[in-house]
Amino acid sequence: MTTISEGPRSVADAVAGLDIRAQAYLDGAYVDAASGETFDCVSPISGEVVAQVAACDTVDVDRAVVGARAAFESGVWSRLAPKKRKRVLQKLAGLMAEHAEELALLETVDMGKPIRDATNVDVPLATECIAWYGEAIDKVYDEIAPTGPDAHVSIVREPLGVVGAVVPWNFPLMMASWKLGPALATGNSVVLKPAEQSPLTALRLAELASEAGIPDGVLQVLPGFGETAGQALGRHPDVDMIAFTGSTEVGKLFLRYAGESNMKRTALECGGKSPHIVTRECGDLDAAATAVAWGVFYNQGEVCNAGSRLLVHEAVKDELLEKVVGVAQRIRPGDPLDPKTRMGAIVDQTQLSRVLGYIDSGKSEGAGLHLGGARVREDTGGYYVEPTIFDAVSNDMTIAREEIFGPVLSAISFSELDEAITIANDTIYGLSAGIWTDDVNVAHRAARAIRAGIVWVNTFDAGDITSPFGGFKQSGFGRDKSIHALEKFTDLKAIWIALRD
Ligand code: NAP
Ligand code: MG
Repeated sequence: MTTISEGPRSVADAVAGLDIRAQAYLDGAYVDAASGETFDCVSPISGEVVAQVAACDTVDVDRAVVGARAAFESGVWSRLAPKKRKRVLQKLAGLMAEHAEELALLETVDMGKPIRDATNVDVPLATECIAWYGEAIDKVYDEIAPTGPDAHVSIVREPLGVVGAVVPWNFPLMMASWKLGPALATGNSVVLKPAEQSPLTALRLAELASEAGIPDGVLQVLPGFGETAGQALGRHPDVDMIAFTGSTEVGKLFLRYAGESNMKRTALECGGKSPHIVTRECGDLDAAATAVAWGVFYNQGEVCNAGSRLLVHEAVKDELLEKVVGVAQRIRPGDPLDPKTRMGAIVDQTQLSRVLGYIDSGKSEGAGLHLGGARVREDTGGYYVEPTIFDAVSNDMTIAREEIFGPVLSAISFSELDEAITIANDTIYGLSAGIWTDDVNVAHRAARAIRAGIVWVNTFDAGDITSPFGGFKQSGFGRDKSIHALEKFTDLKAIWIALRD
């Protein structure tokens, strides 16, 4: 295999060096979908088809759940001592690190992010996540209730059983790891459905998990479409929980599936329209401008917590926007396989059209197109959009209300902090927010007033496995990352033992 440091190469070259797994991974082996159907896996880098992936459906979901349930009931994983599960997860993390280059290439070819980010961000963070939950699991204790001398009441956490994990295409391996780490550490079996646009790393990971010692059936990976495989998992009567990351629209469907089937637990990490506030008291407009630009253009803007609404005080607006433009002009879409590229391809033709449609709506609703706005690199056959900035946006315009999931920033100005907070909260979403200020009173007051799962002060999009991530309002509920993520993959049981005198 050619190495990443050797630089740019074609999608065909990259694929030739990869052993792509395109079948479902069930009960420890790669298998075709029962129907024999496949779908095209397209690389957005060039529009080329790179694999024919198994199109799993209801029958395959059923088989996966039966296998996952059998593994769970056998106790081979669910009743293993935590320290033994720890060792397996640590081994899996070790294998991911060993195969980091391959995983990064698969991710880039599959969904178009820069190889630089897949290598430096996605794969290491996914690896860290698996290792961290492995490390954590033999350090959590159960509780004894302070009932008094007549009883001994232990409060224990038990794995739920079969967890269905349904994930999106923007950080495929990382989003899968955020579910798999805590779900597996707590002893569940998992049926993972990657997004149709990005199944390749999940399919390879399944094999590495087996190699690490995850017993057959404990991790099943089923590629397929949301409407078929995703829905079948959501409605399956023997799935105990759905851990979902994706759009708010589909998140609501999972609530319906749960209500119409077995009332399975549901944890939803959904969309966002995050406000990024720059106040008059911001002491470092250069740092703020860099964060504003990267906060919305990173990963081609395909980030749930993208700071897509810039709320900027009118006194610093012109200066800040000029600096943001300066940063944005250095973030040009390029060949994702070139290690120097900072912005890659939009995931597919559909998403490309969606992003361009929002740019048109910004123009027609009267926002000022300040930078960019066009599809670029069309000759490559891939899907690229340049960093785009709209000025003079009002919060009732479509581009300020709907999640674009592309490299489009909407700048809105304000004159009073209270007004900024009102605008920040005037959204159905509540995933994240940022505020730049050197005034500690403003920082604290704003951080508590903004309804979001995370509020960054004088930074944006900072994260760590120790810090929980997830939304308020229609950005969902349940938290990924941190020790808190363990809670949602377990049920609480009280065991009441009466004590005789
Ligand atoms: P999506 O369309 O909601 O898809 C997410 C997952 O749900 C995919 O696996 C998809 O499968 C599946 N799905 C789609 N329709 C379904 C249906 N009718 N029934 C059951 N499953 C269905 O989201 P996306 O376009 O992949 O990803 C972008 C969204 O993810 C954005 O809204 C973004 O904000 C959100 N996101 C949130 C977070 C967070 O942590 N809060 C992180 C990353 C992304 P197919 O793709 O195969 O159809
Ligand atoms: Mg793809």
